[in-house]
Amino acid sequence: MVRVYVGIGSNLDDPRRHVDDAVQALDQLPQTRRRAVSPLYRSRPLGPAGQDDYINAVAELDTLLEPEELLDALKLLEQRHGRRPDAPRWSARPLDLDILVYGHVQRRDPYLTIPHAALAHRNFVLWPLYDVAPHLEIPGLGPLAALRERSAADGLECLEPHP
Ligand code: ADP
Ligand code: MG
Repeated sequence: MVRVYVGIGSNLDDPRRHVDDAVQALDQLPQTRRRAVSPLYRSRPLGPAGQDDYINAVAELDTLLEPEELLDALKLLEQRHGRRPDAPRWSARPLDLDILVYGHVQRRDPYLTIPHAALAHRNFVLWPLYDVAPHLEIPGLGPLAALRERSAADGLECLEPHP
């Protein structure tokens, strides 16, 4: 089994429901077990103005799926939640699922970059990731705790009591 962290985000059509449903669906993936899920966060949207706030969370999984198989499964889930594959990047979306970390894997490819290319710059990823894995070492980037320390909590609000 490989330890994997998946970022979950939604800012369309009842975002909380999409995030809750996605958390359940991640547990149903083949050869995969969900170990933990972070509290929900609310964050300000990136990209085009006029979008609603996002709801974000991070799930910790153990999986036997290869990185590409996992990405395909996540893309399928995004589409089942009504995400249009041709929608512009960073536009509002009912569900965004990102592979943040996949074991010790490091690869840079537009189709699949691991660790996720923007991980170090997104507080709405670093904060919930830290909640589930405070001692995580991010391959190529070092301790998660140090990255989180450097990222301001601007525009980020935790919606649940902290673990
Ligand atoms: P972002 O998640 O960075 O806000 P998008 O979800 O719009 O942007 O990007 C989608 C594309 O990014 C996908 O088609 C996918 O092939 C590619 N991608 C590259 N690396 C990853 C990753 N680690 N996790 C998810 N998608 C990735
Ligand atoms: Mg994405």
